[in-house]
Formats: sequence, C-alpha cells, structure tokens
Amino acid sequence: MRASGVSRLLLAACVAAGLGTPCPASGSDAPAPARRGGPLTDPPGPLVGVKIYEPVADTGALLGEWSRLGIDTAFVAPAFESGDFVAAARRRGIRTLLIVPVFYNPEYLAAHPDAWAITGRGERAKQEWVEFVCPSREDYRQRRLEEAVGLLEKHRPDGLSLDFVRHFVFWEKVGPEARIGPLDTTCFCRHCLARFERDTGVAVPGDAGATTTDAARWLLANETDAWTRWRAALVTSWVSDLVREARRVEPDVVVGAHLVPWGRRDYDDGLLRVAGQDVEALGRLLDYVSPMCYAHMLRREPSWIARVAEEFARRTDVPVLPSIEVARSYREEELDDAFFAAALRAALAPPSDGVVLWSWPRLAESPSRREILLRRGR
Ligand SMILES: [Zn+2]
Repeated sequence: MRASGVSRLLLAACVAAGLGTPCPASGSDAPAPARRGGPLTDPPGPLVGVKIYEPVADTGALLGEWSRLGIDTAFVAPAFESGDFVAAARRRGIRTLLIVPVFYNPEYLAAHPDAWAITGRGERAKQEWVEFVCPSREDYRQRRLEEAVGLLEKHRPDGLSLDFVRHFVFWEKVGPEARIGPLDTTCFCRHCLARFERDTGVAVPGDAGATTTDAARWLLANETDAWTRWRAALVTSWVSDLVREARRVEPDVVVGAHLVPWGRRDYDDGLLRVAGQDVEALGRLLDYVSPMCYAHMLRREPSWIARVAEEFARRTDVPVLPSIEVARSYREEELDDAFFAAALRAALAPPSDGVVLWSWPRLAESPSRREILLRRGR
C-alpha cells in the first residue's frame, strides 16, 4: 500500500490557502499560511516541481509564472536561496526543498585530498566534473550532517532533497548497452576496506591485499554479495543519519532523495551493485524518491520513464517523483517539443506521484515547453 503523501501535503496547503483544488495553477496572489514539511498527506493532483540552482532577478515574477504553470514545488540549490525565497514561495503556496549534495563535493576534496573515494583500479573517483568523497570518513559525515541541519535552521524550507547520495558513477554517460566494470566502482580505500572487515568479519588475506586492485579483485571474486550489501548499507546509513538529524530539528520536515534511474535489470542490478542505492531500504527512511529519468540523455524512449517510475513504485511505499529533462544534455541531437511532451506524459502516468523538471532556466527560455507543461503534455 503506497502513501501519497506529497499530494496530501499539497492539498492541505491549497485548502488552507483557500485556493481550491487543483490549486497550484490558480495563479492567485492570496497568501498561504505558513506550512513547512508536515507529514506528507493526501492530495488529489500530481506534484509539479522544478529544479533551480542560480538566483533570479525578480523573485515575484518567477513565482507568478510558476503559479500560472501549476508548479507547486521548488527543488532549490542552497546557493539559490539568498534569504527570502523560501518565505516568498510559501506565501504563494509553493513548497521548497533544499538540495543537499552528499558525496559530490569538489571544494571539500580540494582541501582534503586524502578524502577521495578510490576505485578498484586504485584511482580517485573522478570523471570530468563528477568527484566523490569516500563514504567511510566519519569527520566528513559529521560535517555534512551539521551543514544539512544548518540549512534547515537558517532557511526553514519544507524539506531536504538529498543528491549524490550514492557511490561514484557518472551514470549520465552510461548508455543502454554499456557495461560497468566492477573495478571502476568505489570505494576501495583503506578506510573502507578496514571498515568492511570490521563490520562483516570478512578478512582480505594478506597476500591478496598487496595493492588496492589486488584487494578489490579478491573481494569481487570471493565476497561479492557481502561487499555489495555492505557498501549499499553504508549509503543507507548516511541517509538514516541525515533523516534523523533533520527530523530532530524539524519533526515534520520532508526528506527525499534523487536516485539513479536504473532498474534491477540494468547493468546487473547496477542501482545496488554500482550506485549502492538500496531502494527498498531507502524507501523505508525517506518521504519520497525521485529517479532522474533523463531519457534523451540516456538514449531511451520517453515511455521508459513510466517503466522506471513503475518499478520504483513497486519497490517502495513512498511517492515516486520522476525527474525529467527540459532540454538536451551531453548530446548533439536536439530534444524537441514532441519528445518533451511525451516524456512529461510518461512521467505523470500512474503510479507516479508527480514530475520534477530539470531545470527551470531551460524551461524559462522555451515558451513552447512552458505551454506544453501548462497542458501537462497534451
Ligand atoms: Zn573509502
């Protein structure tokens, strides 16, 4: 039995604001009462969210356009929130979820070069802009927890949206036919190996662990399942800590996560084996999950989005909010209006609980895509 909490929250807010339902498209200027998080409660309509990373010149105009389009949730990078956006959005009945990158942290790595996650080849977990911190560093865990709590206390958003809460993989560039070599996964650093041995009682034989690659080969050949489960549990433990700390500060806060959009049959259960995202375990901790279903980027058909959402809905009891792209990325070929409309329809098809558009600036620059959104892809 699945909760449809996001919509419940939205409905409660709309009713409270006197906007009726479906409310977000009303465009009313009527101020909504303060609402933050709140256990996600039942709603009639799907959630419509946008991701936004950079400040805009005119917040009022932005929120007015979002209301017109029926956008009810903003997934906001902390750099975007300069002090008054959360409150202004709340007055318009628009919920804000601050994006919290967990293991992607180039600034931290620049200052702490010993904190890199390490691949089975003994190399830093870096591919182009993707740079990952090792998940076994307890000082980093403490720091990230404090930073997340600090964001909540400072901005009082409706929730937190955890991003990069996984092991290293540049999944945006993994095509449908690709293979992901086990030695290209992480983290095989000495901290992780010692922790794995301590937690599981499995010992890497001395002669098998002479180098990082030797140890990785031995683990992958002899203790594949224990290793896979352990490193996924490590990610889950971070989510558990982040959720616990967030709720300690704000009991009704919403906490969800952006997940790699792979099903069990993709890359030999790559979601668990590579990304270390145990979707069943994460679903028990979070208030929603948002698979990043960038079909054009990943060279999939729009209908694939609905299949991913259906699988995530089957594997969790929380709302599933597929994120879709508004324009092309990492490809030369154009993502046209027809593709966007089909992707939007697929993202909104039951059992999905809504859609998250990546990202607002790409939508802002395309009048035709905004009208497609207004018509919900029809
Ligand atoms: Zn490590």
